[in-house]
Amino acid sequence: MADLEKFRADTRAWLKENAPPSMAQPLKSDDEACWGGRKGNYPPDVMRWLKVMSERGWTAPMWPKEYGGGGLSKQEAKILHEEMAKLHLRPALIGFGLSMIGPLLLQHGSEDLKREHIPRIVRGEIRWCQGYSEPGSGSDLASLQTKAVRDGDHFILNGQKVWTSYAEKADWMFVLVRTDFEAPKHKGITFLLMDMESPGVAVKPIKLISGSSPFCETFLTDVRVPVTNVVGQINDGWSMAKALLGHERTMIADAFKERDDAMRLLNMARRYVGEDGEGRVADAVVRDRMTQVEMDQACLDLTMARIRDNAKAGHAPGAESSILKYYGTELNQRRRELMVQIAGPQGLGWEGPGFEPAEIKLTRDWLRSRGNTIEGGTSEIQLNVIAKRVLGLPD
Ligand SMILES: Cc1cc2nc3c(=O)[nH]c(=O)nc-3n(C[C@H](O)[C@H](O)[C@H](O)COP(=O)(O)OP(=O)(O)OC[C@H]3O[C@@H](n4cnc5c(N)ncnc54)[C@H](O)[C@@H]3O)c2cc1C
Repeated sequence: MADLEKFRADTRAWLKENAPPSMAQPLKSDDEACWGGRKGNYPPDVMRWLKVMSERGWTAPMWPKEYGGGGLSKQEAKILHEEMAKLHLRPALIGFGLSMIGPLLLQHGSEDLKREHIPRIVRGEIRWCQGYSEPGSGSDLASLQTKAVRDGDHFILNGQKVWTSYAEKADWMFVLVRTDFEAPKHKGITFLLMDMESPGVAVKPIKLISGSSPFCETFLTDVRVPVTNVVGQINDGWSMAKALLGHERTMIADAFKERDDAMRLLNMARRYVGEDGEGRVADAVVRDRMTQVEMDQACLDLTMARIRDNAKAGHAPGAESSILKYYGTELNQRRRELMVQIAGPQGLGWEGPGFEPAEIKLTRDWLRSRGNTIEGGTSEIQLNVIAKRVLGLPD
């Protein structure tokens, strides 16, 4: 206990001394966060924060020290998290490297792949994207057709990926390819790591209903990828894909744990609906719906905390992550819907002087939330997984 108290005091002192004051400002959007990568163009404070945190391995606090991680115990990592929250410090780095491919490589990567990629993920040098979905293969992902043909110590890739989030900003992609066309569909897939600068990779952004273009079509034409970039075994990529989806679904649900948001529901309701003279939101129906959302959120937060503790103790998220993904994304949609309703006509702004920036963001966040129940596997697919693999119901 004394050691942990000392760790807490040292951590607080170090954070106060080393965090640039601007890093204690809340993020206005995900785009403001540091995703790292060769193509990133971040303000000096963001880069300084990344540098000092990654030098201690605190961008990945519990990853092993030998690969550049912080090597912290579960309790120490929790203390770091708490002290950062007290000082309102934003994470120094986010992204698919930390949340998806890093954990998979630590579990299943070859020693060479770990040594090559994990330290670069910790330092935020490489930004990753996910090449799973194809035009004909979304929910039925195992039907994917991107072909990889062996040529000596390389594979030659041909095919198309779609909905590749941030592909135009990414440096590397983890990609699922078909290496055996004769085998049953789940048995002929391989999980590869591919440099996006390889000749033959072309990326085309797709514009979304929310007005932004975070994801892309990715075309692969005779792209050469070394065989040493296989994660796991050749033709056993499906088990890697599923293990990574466990991390992805937990990460998506984690994004919806309650945040200290300036537009929190209560503040919004007081402002747009008004108060009844006793400090309560004036409309009883709105009060009721807000209470339900906040109670459901509290249950989700507690469940998340339990699963996060298990993960820190070494239990990788399994099919249970589908429960978090399903509930977190459906709840976020309910919250966004309610926020827009509370704001009334001010919740339907797109641009122009009649709307404050926060109101325009409200509308765009609401539209963006529609995708939450699709990305990482749709709600229907999560329910199928829960039925079969968590509850053990028959097909
Ligand atoms: C915001 C966002 C980001 C994304 N980022 C990425 C990314 O970075 N990389 C990537 O590879 N992909 C990404 N995707 C793609 C995503 O994984 C797919 O959209 C998703 O898996 C669904 O596939 P689909 O769009 O082809 O829909 P389909 O599979 O065609 O499904 C259409 C409808 O049918 C339902 N359905 C299908 N099969 C069943 C079934 N067996 N039982 C019940 N209902 C069923 C679905 O639930 C859905 O409602 C992203 C998607 C979104 C929205």
